[in-house]
Amino acid sequence: MVGTPCQILAAAKMNRFINEEFPVDLKIGLFCMENFSYSYMKEMLKEYGVDMGDITQYRIEKGHLWLYLKDEEVIKIPLEKAKKCMRKNCQICMDFTSEQSDVSVGSAGSPEGWSTVIIRTEKGLKLIEAAENDNYIETKPISEDGLKIMEKLAKEKKSENKAEINKRKKVARPVLYRRDISEEEFISEVFDCQFNDLKGDVIDIGACVLCGACVYACPEEIVEIRDRKPQIKGNCSPECNICYVSCPRTYIPNDILSKKLDAEPFGKYIKIISAKANKIEGQDGGVATALLTYTLSNNMVDEAIVVDKSDLEPWKPEAKITDNIVDVFNASGTKYAACPIFKPLKQTREGN
Ligand SMILES: Cc1cc2nc3c(=O)[nH]c(=O)nc-3n(C[C@H](O)[C@H](O)[C@H](O)COP(=O)(O)OP(=O)(O)OC[C@H]3O[C@@H](n4cnc5c(N)ncnc54)[C@H](O)[C@@H]3O)c2cc1C
Ligand code: SF4
Ligand code: SF4
Ligand code: SF4
Repeated sequence: MVGTPCQILAAAKMNRFINEEFPVDLKIGLFCMENFSYSYMKEMLKEYGVDMGDITQYRIEKGHLWLYLKDEEVIKIPLEKAKKCMRKNCQICMDFTSEQSDVSVGSAGSPEGWSTVIIRTEKGLKLIEAAENDNYIETKPISEDGLKIMEKLAKEKKSENKAEINKRKKVARPVLYRRDISEEEFISEVFDCQFNDLKGDVIDIGACVLCGACVYACPEEIVEIRDRKPQIKGNCSPECNICYVSCPRTYIPNDILSKKLDAEPFGKYIKIISAKANKIEGQDGGVATALLTYTLSNNMVDEAIVVDKSDLEPWKPEAKITDNIVDVFNASGTKYAACPIFKPLKQTREGN
């Protein structure tokens, strides 16, 4: 899968706790400073006379949000203003570079047309080396200035959002995923937690990242996303707690998310490079798309989860699971809105 840091964290949790059923075994994480609320953004853009359907591409660069429209007009909105549309859950997120992924990809730190790539695991390293050998990507060392830019952004995200987490603690809205607990303590904390606890501890307090892990995990199929929120449409089976366990914003054992990472701007990694895919027009270097097409073409994975635009509502993100390279190409480019990325996996599990 390709996903934002919060989605990758949910996948890491499900890899651990529902491992035999959860089929994601390669995680390509994106950098992410913040995400936007689709409805707030839609509302704000009315002021600029822009309809969401007319936007072909979004970019965040040089302190502005740039909107590229179908008629080739470009609208520039100061980032400070656009940040009013930021999702509340993003204010308590301390991960800029997808620290639980195999490989992370972002734009910060590399020249235009290139991606910054953080290789974190042996699996990720082998993938990058193989994709380069087979000419899917080219790589070069990251510049010192690039590294400094990344470090500044990652440190800012950690310190500013840690302050917000502390603020929320004081007004009795504790951020559970930041508690430092062992796996043993985790098992005991989540023991009798069901959807109502998820609602109280995450959804109702503005911590839900809308990843759809709870929808995927529920064996009773009673969780659905309605009005951009997870909601329940039945009764929980006794002793089930799997939605609560899977959520990236409930407790996380410290061997998955260690507080030691707070002191390391990019988390654990093997190396950081710049890379680009020559034949792919992606958001930045097209590396995310190149890696997915490489793994699919070489049967290293069966299918890939991508986030494309919805056919019915253009630009609105929609997750897809596919073995078709054309779908992967079509999904290139960043969609700056939350997306229940694990929803299509559920349909696959059900054989639909
Ligand atoms: C919400 C968001 C915020 C980001 N913020 C930053 C930032 O502050 N700084 C920075 O350096 N980089 C940021 N990125 C990453 C950056 O925009 C590029 O996605 C990254 O550099 C990869 O570029 P690429 O050309 O290799 O990707 P491409 O080859 O264009 O592929 C992009 C991949 O991203 C996936 N994708 C698109 N939108 C979403 C989404 N909403 N959720 C999950 N997956 C999605 C698609 O499935 C596609 O496979 C952000 C990405 C997102 C989704
Ligand atoms: S919570 Fe927000 S800022 Fe954090 S990774 Fe998810 S979308 Fe990005
Ligand atoms: S049945 Fe289990 S997974 Fe489904 S909502 Fe209830 S507690 Fe959550
Ligand atoms: S409540 Fe559900 S959709 Fe929201 S973050 Fe948790 S698992 Fe994801």
